[in-house]
Amino acid sequence: MNGEEIEFAAAWSAEALRLMAENGVPPCPENYAIWFHYASGRTPDLNKEIDARIARHEPLDMNATAELRERLTGEGKLADMTLDTGAKLNTEVDRILKIIGETASNSSTFGQSVRAASESLTHQSTPNDVAHAVEAIIAASRKMEERSAELEETLHATKSELNDLQQNLAKAHSEARTDALTGVNNRKAFDEALAREMAAASSSGQALCLVIGDIDHFKKFNDTFGHRTGDQVLKLVANCLKSGALEQHFVARYGGEEFAIVMPATEIEMAEAIANKIRQTVQARELVKRSTGESLGRVTMSMGIALLRPGETSAGLIERADNCLYTAKHAGRNCVITELHETGMPEAKAG
Ligand code: GH3
Ligand code: MG
Ligand code: MG
Repeated sequence: MNGEEIEFAAAWSAEALRLMAENGVPPCPENYAIWFHYASGRTPDLNKEIDARIARHEPLDMNATAELRERLTGEGKLADMTLDTGAKLNTEVDRILKIIGETASNSSTFGQSVRAASESLTHQSTPNDVAHAVEAIIAASRKMEERSAELEETLHATKSELNDLQQNLAKAHSEARTDALTGVNNRKAFDEALAREMAAASSSGQALCLVIGDIDHFKKFNDTFGHRTGDQVLKLVANCLKSGALEQHFVARYGGEEFAIVMPATEIEMAEAIANKIRQTVQARELVKRSTGESLGRVTMSMGIALLRPGETSAGLIERADNCLYTAKHAGRNCVITELHETGMPEAKAG
């Protein structure tokens, strides 16, 4: 569970306990975890599976819980994929070792045949003897050629298996760094990217900016329209950030309704201009509830920007960007603050 979900945890928890009692599910921690996920509605596959089991009057006992956890939670899937990849890789390594063994034994068989044929020849050999020896060598070569073709085919199959495994691993790597709700990078990916880009910036001497943005009064939005609708807004905001950022920028969901952009090779004036453009894009989007067409008004964002200082730690840079964000909130929200000055126009003040 993410820290940002704490807001809803009490309601989900109560709902989980109620559902467990209603369905006669033993109240142990493993079962509770599954039902908590169910109550949150964040894992639609899990809910579908549980609903189907209830509809089929199947027992929801410890075995069922263990199975559900394995099959349906994101972490389970990722662990499965990694274990699966490990097992397959072992199989492929065995296959390659076998091929190498066979190739070595084929070559030595071929060597022996050639040696036997050559040893059968002396200066006294008749043309017939020579013809026999030549035939034996030709036969051995042909056999060797056939085996080589077979081995080559096996090696091709192995290579394609290895490509699939490589892709699986890349997918697992990317899933582990993607925020499931918004599809942008998650906090883990952000931490890695910031460390990487800070190291690159200090060796190249190029400017590096960090933008931290936070949706304004989002708690009120959730309270008014529900957290499912709030989730849709988070997706929309993530898209605005992604489309407003430059190619070399790294957009991530930093926390609940907070986003960050790591901006390598970007001077603070440029970072500020980009952040302001994103802020305006978010503000310009009129939100409409898909199911009913009801207008939900608009959301706005406040942002803080800091420019990396020589020798600074990532914690220091984040703290300074966060302080600017705090100032932006206090300046009336819907604005961008850098350490230099305040920009953007809070709606209320724009008149
Ligand atoms: P401020 O302008 O000062 O930032 O006010 P705020 O209400 O946005 O800030 P506060 O920190 O009080 O509340 C943040 C809210 O963000 C709490 C929670 O309702 C919402 N939130 C956090 N994570 C999620 C999420 O994953 N989905 C949804 N729908 N809401 C979330
Ligand atoms: Mg916040
Ligand atoms: Mg907020």
